[in-house]
Amino acid sequence: MLDNLSNRLSGVVKSLRGQARLSETNITDALREVRMALLEADVALPVVKTFIAEVKQRALGQEVIGSLTPGQALIGVVNEELTRLMGEHNDALNLAAVPPAIILMAGLQGAGKTTTVGKLAKLLKETQKKKVLVVSADVYRPAAIEQLKMLAEQVGVEWFPSDASQQPDAIARAAVDYAKRHYFDVLMVDTAGRLAIDEAMMQEIKTLHATLNPIETLFVVDAMQGQDAVHTAQAFNEALPLTGVILTKMDGDARGGAALSVRHITGKPIKFIGVGEKTTGIEPFHPERMASRILG
Ligand code: GDP
Repeated sequence: MLDNLSNRLSGVVKSLRGQARLSETNITDALREVRMALLEADVALPVVKTFIAEVKQRALGQEVIGSLTPGQALIGVVNEELTRLMGEHNDALNLAAVPPAIILMAGLQGAGKTTTVGKLAKLLKETQKKKVLVVSADVYRPAAIEQLKMLAEQVGVEWFPSDASQQPDAIARAAVDYAKRHYFDVLMVDTAGRLAIDEAMMQEIKTLHATLNPIETLFVVDAMQGQDAVHTAQAFNEALPLTGVILTKMDGDARGGAALSVRHITGKPIKFIGVGEKTTGIEPFHPERMASRILG
């Protein structure tokens, strides 16, 4: 069990009691503990370095007010800064488009794209009364198309047929046409992932993006990916104008460091977290809660 940051800092900062301001000498040791906590939470090293430098800047000269000890004051700064960097508030899905509002899903194979389509479709249908159409452009894995069909049936939204003999782009055009003719509010497009970044996958999803002109392009990333999430996020962010991120598998052991890393790399808001395999396992992302989880 990881010791939480407050406990760890309490040892370091005992000697700082009675000082009115945070100074370079009295925060150096404490920041070392913060750095360890972030690395243990799987925040990528370059991101940790930038973060520590920023916190140091902000903390220096900060007054220690009232009953706070310098350690508490520093934790306050760390918490605020983490929350600020992860977006401060929750960003909702943007559906402000001439219908259908198109949502394109991007991410590696196994990240949770298909599952997330089912979850979001259910959410939009139940909480916003949207008429949702889902389609799979994953022509490499017939099982993925079948998986989406089953999910659509389960959550009670319409599924647009596609199969392995078709081109992803042709599937996308046909689905948009169908969605327009049948007055769907939202069209969600699931795409093929690979086990690792590859050029063909990126080219394919770029073409899909150009065809669909989606209002939301969501990058789905597995929180358990930890440090690797940075490279994946970087590659997708360079290939596509992402509008948001969904961090899946937060019901597992992941401390959530990937949230900070991915936000830092892409600059795009994390909109939801996945918290289970079921279609109800999705929650809006709350930066302040994630900050606490990262700090332990
Ligand atoms: P895709 O290849 O990106 O479409 O990924 P899938 O949607 O097929 O998901 C891959 C695996 O991750 C499946 O076994 C899902 O049930 C599982 N999964 C997806 N999201 C979550 C989540 O938030 N929590 C958990 N525990 N499992 C998830």
